[in-house]
Amino acid sequence: MNQLKRACALLLSLGLTLSLAACGSGGAQPSGTADTTPAPLETAAPEPTPTPAADPYDAVKNYWSADQLTQAWGPDQVVEHLFFHPVIAYPKYAFTDSSASQAQKDGLDDWMVTVDEYNKILNNLYERGYILVRMEDVWTETSDGTGVPHMVRNTLMLPEGKKPLVISFDDVNYYDYMLAEGFTSKLVVGDDGQIWAQCTDPYTQETFLTQDLDATPILDNFVLEHPDFSLNGAKAIFSLTGYQGILGYRTQNDRDIAAGSPDRPAFEAYRQSEIDAVKPVIQRLKETGWTFGSHTWGHINLSTKSLEVVKNDTERWAEEVGSLVGPTTILFYPHGARPDGNDDVKQTGPMFQYLQSMGFRVFASVGIESYSKIKTDISAVICDRLHPDGTTLRKQRDRYLQFYDAKDIIDLEVRPDLGVNWD
Ligand SMILES: [Zn+2]
Repeated sequence: MNQLKRACALLLSLGLTLSLAACGSGGAQPSGTADTTPAPLETAAPEPTPTPAADPYDAVKNYWSADQLTQAWGPDQVVEHLFFHPVIAYPKYAFTDSSASQAQKDGLDDWMVTVDEYNKILNNLYERGYILVRMEDVWTETSDGTGVPHMVRNTLMLPEGKKPLVISFDDVNYYDYMLAEGFTSKLVVGDDGQIWAQCTDPYTQETFLTQDLDATPILDNFVLEHPDFSLNGAKAIFSLTGYQGILGYRTQNDRDIAAGSPDRPAFEAYRQSEIDAVKPVIQRLKETGWTFGSHTWGHINLSTKSLEVVKNDTERWAEEVGSLVGPTTILFYPHGARPDGNDDVKQTGPMFQYLQSMGFRVFASVGIESYSKIKTDISAVICDRLHPDGTTLRKQRDRYLQFYDAKDIIDLEVRPDLGVNWD
C-alpha cells in the first residue's frame, strides 16, 4: 500500500499524464475537492479494521527527550528569525517566460527565492546547527513581580550545540497574481494524510500534487528527514492576509455583494465550500507544528493608514481569518511598515495601543538583524526579521554568512542579470 502511494505520488509529482482518479485510494488526492462520486458499496465480507498507521510526524515531535535539552538559551541571547515569501516553483517561467511586466519580474527577484535556493538554505541552516523553535515559545506575558502584565523573553532549553531559529512565511495566501507567475496554487491534505501543494505547470497547464515545489511540504519533509532540526516538532509560522482567502482557498467575504442581492446565495455557497475545504488543511498544519499570525486582512501599510481603516481591517481579519485559524498574538507588519508614522520603537502611539488591545503582543517588522525589544510602557514586544531573498542574496552577503553563503545559494543562471555586490 505504501509502495503504491509512493509510486502514485511520484508519478503525480513528475506531472505525468495520469488522472488523479487513476491512483484510486492509493493516490494523493486532495480531500477537499468537490469529487462527489459515491464510493461503491462494499458487498464482500468486511475486512478486519487495520491498526491506524503511526503518524510519521510523531517521530519529529518526540525526537528530543527532556533530558537532552540541557543548554539554557537565556533572554540576552538572540533568537534568529528568517522569513520567506512563497518560493518560486518555476523560476524560468517567473523570471523570463511569463507575461508579467518586467517590474513584476524584478519584484519576484527582489522578494523571493526559488525552490532550489530554498532547499540549499534549509540545508545550510541545518548544517550550521540551527534548530526550529516556535515563535510563540520565545516570549511570554506575565505579571510576575510587578502586578502589571508585561512581556518577558523566555529561557529556551535546547540540545547542546544548537542555536534557536524562528522561520515565518509571509503571504501564504496563493494570491491570484502568483498563480499566473510560476507558483503553486494551494495546500491540500493528500490521501496519505500529509500536506501537499496543488500546482499547475505553466507550460502544459497540467494540474498535479507535489511536495517538491512548495515551501511548506518541503519543510515538512526536511524535518521528517532531519528530526533534530526541530524542537518539539516546531515548523514555521504563517503570516496570513485575508483579502484573497487563505492557503489557496477563497474564503474571504465579498462585501460588494449586498445581503439581499440575488448573487448572495450562490456566493455564500461557494464561500462555504472553500471554508469547508480549508478546514482539514488548517487542522493538519496545526497537528504538525505550524502556527498562524496576522499579516493584516488587506496587506495594509500601517505607517500611513488611519486608525479607522486599521480598526476595520483588524476586525475583518478576526472575522474571516482568525475564525478559521484561531486567535493569534503575533502581527507581521505588511511592507515592514510600523504603525503610528512608522515609529513603534520610540513611541507607543494610538494605533499600537489599539492593536495591543486587540490581543497582539509580538509585532514583527523586517530589518538587517534579528532585533527585538520588550516595550516597558505596554505589554508588547517589537522585533525585526531577516529576509533571505534576491535583494539580500545579491547585496547583503556578509549579514547572512552565519546562515549561508549567498555565493552557494543564488541561482544566477535563472535570475535576471541584475548583478551582485560580492565576487
Ligand atoms: Zn506581505
